[in-house]
Amino acid sequence: MGKVWFVGAGPGASDLITVRGARLLGEAGAILYTGSLVAETVLEWASKDCEIADSKSMDLEQVNAWLLDRASRHETVVRLQTGDPTLYGVVAELARPLDAAGIPIGIVSGVSSAMASAAAAGESLTLPEVTQTVIFTRLSGRTKMPESESLVSLAAHGCTLCIFLSIDRIDAVVAQLQEAGWASSASVVVVHKATWPGEEQVLRGTLEDIAGRCRAEGIDRQALILVSPALGARSRPQTRTSKLYDNAFPRRFRPGHNRGNSGTDRD
Ligand code: SAH
Repeated sequence: MGKVWFVGAGPGASDLITVRGARLLGEAGAILYTGSLVAETVLEWASKDCEIADSKSMDLEQVNAWLLDRASRHETVVRLQTGDPTLYGVVAELARPLDAAGIPIGIVSGVSSAMASAAAAGESLTLPEVTQTVIFTRLSGRTKMPESESLVSLAAHGCTLCIFLSIDRIDAVVAQLQEAGWASSASVVVVHKATWPGEEQVLRGTLEDIAGRCRAEGIDRQALILVSPALGARSRPQTRTSKLYDNAFPRRFRPGHNRGNSGTDRD
């Protein structure tokens, strides 16, 4: 009996999978990937004689049956998922039948599209003294949002929001952000197919015009919406300095400063 690995493929570019993920693809006897979301270039890490299947047209039961069957025949089976498998990846639903059958599973982290989108746009998701919190969320769709997690209530925090799975309802996203108190002039970045070779698009706008820009570019799927007071920080004059670069601020690993007593653990 084999082991089933849920491997994060990363956002698209084949060199953004982890070294561990690529090694497992090379060892796998069978790989099931999400064809609609995972860039096929990542499969370049698979061995020549590996069985590769696309789960695009399978339902959850068929995916479960496929994984159970292949795990009975191969030592290493990979379920390849976009970004990081622990975000919107139905890992629990897929692992339950494997757990019940006594088949061990492992999860390998991937670069989430949230991180890749920020990187593609040259943005930071946090900015000292402006926002230090990032919320990963989505609008409700077939998967209903828990009542306490409406976008209006989450957006009211004014921190960074990485909004997944919602680009097809960008008007509703905008309306809910405005209802939460965000100004029409607030910056929004939409990244379509972050890091996909030749396909990445970064759109910048405001709450007022971002929906129109997305429509003009025909972007209605596979895009991440970033909303944050940190957006555009590079082009604004520096009014606040990060304490990280303040000479008076003791840092653990800087020579000449007290090590270990600052209580900080910063990056
Ligand atoms: N586990 C994935 C998210 C899967 S849900 C992750 O960690 O990224 C699918 C949603 O992720 C899409 O609707 C889109 O919002 C986002 N997404 C996935 N890949 C993307 C990419 N390359 N660029 C932009 N957004 C992406």
